[in-house]
This record gives sequence, structure tokens and C-alpha cells, in this order.
Amino acid sequence: MISQTRDIVQKSLDALLEDEHFLPELQGEARKQSFTSLTAILSTPNHIHKSFLRVPLENGRVDRIPAFRVQHNNALGPYKGGIRFHEMVNEDEVVNLASLMTLKNSLHDVPFGGGKGGIIINPREYTDKELNLIAKKYVQYFSDVIGPDKDIPAPDMGSGEREMDWMMAEYKSIHPGYPYRGSFTGKSVINGGSLGRREATGKGVYFTLRYMMHDFIKNQKNLLTKTDNVFAKTALNYENKPLTISVQGFGNVGSVAALEAYQSTHLQNKVVAVSDRNVTLYNADGLDIPALVEFTMRNKGDLPVTDDQLKEIDVKADISDREDVLYLDVDVLILAALEDQIHKDNVEKVKAGIIVEGANAPVTTEADEFLSDKGIIIVPDILANAGGVIVSYFEWLQGRETQFYSEDEVFKLLFEKMQTTLDTVLPQFFGDPFPLRQNCYIHSVTKLSTILYRQGKLY
Ligand code: NAD
Repeated sequence: MISQTRDIVQKSLDALLEDEHFLPELQGEARKQSFTSLTAILSTPNHIHKSFLRVPLENGRVDRIPAFRVQHNNALGPYKGGIRFHEMVNEDEVVNLASLMTLKNSLHDVPFGGGKGGIIINPREYTDKELNLIAKKYVQYFSDVIGPDKDIPAPDMGSGEREMDWMMAEYKSIHPGYPYRGSFTGKSVINGGSLGRREATGKGVYFTLRYMMHDFIKNQKNLLTKTDNVFAKTALNYENKPLTISVQGFGNVGSVAALEAYQSTHLQNKVVAVSDRNVTLYNADGLDIPALVEFTMRNKGDLPVTDDQLKEIDVKADISDREDVLYLDVDVLILAALEDQIHKDNVEKVKAGIIVEGANAPVTTEADEFLSDKGIIIVPDILANAGGVIVSYFEWLQGRETQFYSEDEVFKLLFEKMQTTLDTVLPQFFGDPFPLRQNCYIHSVTKLSTILYRQGKLY
């Protein structure tokens, strides 16, 4: 587990140890020992599976491709988490991402544990046929440890419904006669995927921002005005004001969040900047997000990088370095690309008042502390980007029932679930002096700890 996650889990456990209402039946030495056990269990994964996939390439060469499946904890249900296809993915990162999945599922009451996978490749350097083989090999090598009631992978960076379809088909071939639909989520709809899964994370990211800054502030005005809480003051500063938004990353999560913000009538937002691995595009009057989405669909996911390309789609924007998106003078910055984007060396340049983590762990511990001390609201990954795993859960359920929900039903269920969590954490957040991340972790760790205790895992 990367130190940031471990430190906040430990802080949450320290707070619970002192809380006399939490597991009051545990007293004295037994209480101390149980909390030491909790630290050990939550800070280490149950399993790290590692293989080198043997993949014959089309040029006649055989590659050995490193691949992982990390299973962090399954106290709440089968392990669940995406498989990242990326050249920089490594074991520590996958362990951290798996532990975030455990915490995320616990926070949102999703009956899954935490897992994550990684394949160290740049998918752009392989042909479709080779990628198909890599996906199949991954399932072959890990087939004993995954499955609908053991560990259910999903897409992550660099993978999508195509890879999940391939992987589910391979799982089915390896396990003939066994239920296979629930073995992978994020599949195409025709292969048993859920309507709305592709958009779920981006929609959930925007819903979280909208609910907090619109519905919650309006309904809980008294709570926010009565307190000295620095984050309540920040939120009230933006009340009833149109928000300017910039979005880092324009893939599955970022493009959908940007489109939701563009189409929303709640906050009269203006998406003034978006970025990807190549560029930042900026227009103070707001960008034409639908035209940019349409462009990326025709250009392997990339945004326009030249004035000619912008002219072609009639979009007005200034083009600059990809990092510039982080330092713009905007109200809201949505981070939807990679980990560690805001860190101690660049945090002082960040001007946004609200940061929403669409990606996992995009703000480092030092940067988080610096920003939180200034009263900047950081909406943490485990709260904001859970839409994908929540709809994956619906997909898994639909696969079991072979009954499918309409897209409207999926989004209604998604927003209800996210709202339930927000209604649990936001009142405390605007009342306590703790940042929102700490509040979310305390809720999540409380549930995990109680379950581990009740399952007799702390003796
Ligand atoms: P994606 O591969 O679809 O998109 C990634 C985007 O980030 C692309 O636009 C890419 O060009 C851009 N990017 C890559 N490197 C960059 C850089 N150095 N600077 C700026 N932009 C860069 O991935 P995604 O599915 O949208 O996931 C994005 C993040 O959200 C990841 O951290 C992922 O773990 C997290 N996440 C995704 C989901 C999901 O359902 N897809 C769910 C939860 C969390």
C-alpha cells in the first residue's frame, strides 16, 4: 500500500481507537491488540499474483510481458477492480489501487472487496491481434484466482469493453459449463454488459460535484452558515455562482465528466479547459465539448493538437502544454488522468478552489495537506470516482439474474447510491475540521473494521 493510503487508514484507526462508541465491547489490552491486527490486515494485500505472459508477436519474436493481479481484501465480498494496460504500471501502484478499491466499495456499501490488475505494456505499440492474445494470456495465467465469486476484473486505463469481451470469452472457454457472465464487468452490452457502464464513472464524478455544490448547499444552508468550518466557507463562496471548470484527461472519465458539466443546467458551468497526454485546450468563454468528444472518437481518443484540426471542427481554443490545465485560474479542477499529478513541487501553482479526483490518487499527501490547509476542498477518489464500480456491481447482478435494466434505471440507481454516501459524509465534513478524504476514510474503515471484528478476524 502506498504511504498516502496507509497513513490515512492509520489515522482513521487511531481516531476509532479513541472513540468509545466504536466497538465498546473491546476494552483495555484486547482493544489495543485488535487495532494492531486491523492495521496489519488493512495495510497489506491478501495476495499478489505475478506472472510473465509468454506472447508470440506477429514479427516472430516472443515477448515476456509482466502482469499482476493484486487481491487486497475480500471481507465485504469477491475482490473487484480494473486491469490497467500501461507501460508505467508497477506492483506498488497496483497494490495501492487495490487497497483503494477495498475502501471505495466499503464507503459506498458495494458488496465487493478490493482488487486490481496491471499489464506492463503500451497498448498503442501492439496490433489488435497481439492485444487479443495478451488479454487471453492474462486470463489463462490467472484463471484459478479470478471468477464471478472470487475476483471480478473490469477495465482501467488502456483497456475497455473490447478487452473485457475477449477476457470473458477466454474465461468461458477455460471453465466450460460454469457461469461466466459475472467473471468480468465493463463488457459490451451485447455481451452482457450494463447500459451506462461506460459513462458511469464520469457521470458519477460530475454528480458528486453537482450534488455537493448545488443540492446539498441549498438544502443544508443552516448547517453551513452556522459553523466556522473553513471548507463550509469555501463552499459558500461558490454558492449560486456559475462555476468555471477545467478537466485534466479526456478519456473515459474526463470526457464524460466534461460533457455532463457542459450539458448540466444546475450550476451554469463553463468548461473552459480540457487536456490529454498531448495538449491543454483553453477558451475563457467555454469549450464546445460535444465537438471535442466527437473529434476524439475519430482520432484514437486524442484531442486536436493543431489550429488546423481545431478549425476543421470549428472549435475555438488556445493550445498549450498538457500541464497548463493544472494551473488555470478556475473554480473547479477535475483530475481524470493519472496518479500524482499535483505534488509538492507544483502545488503552489494550483489556483482552483475545488478539486475533484476522477482519477485514483492524483494528489499526493504533501500537496493534499498544503491545499487543505488553505481551505481548498478536495473531493477524494474513493468518493467521486465510484460510479464505475457501482455500475459494475449492477452489471454483475444483471448477469446473475439474466435480467437487464434500462439506461435510465441504471443512472437512477447509481445516483441514489452515490447520494446516500454523500448524505452520510457531507454533514460531518462541513461540521468537523477534517478534510473530506479523512471523513470518507473514517466511514469506510469503520465498516471494514466492524465486519472484520464480527467475522472473528482480529484474534
Ligand atoms: P483513459 O485511458 O480512457 O483516459 C486517460 C486520459 O488521460 C486520456 O485522455 C489520456 O490522453 C490522458 N493522459 C494520459 N497521460 C496524461 C498526462 N501525462 N497528462 C494529461 N493527460 C494524460 O482512462 P480513464 O478510464 O478515463 O481513467 C482515467 C483515470 O480514472 C485513471 O486514473 C483510472 O484509474 C481512473 N478511474 C477510471 C475508472 C473507469 O471506470 N474508467 C473508474 C475509476 C477510476
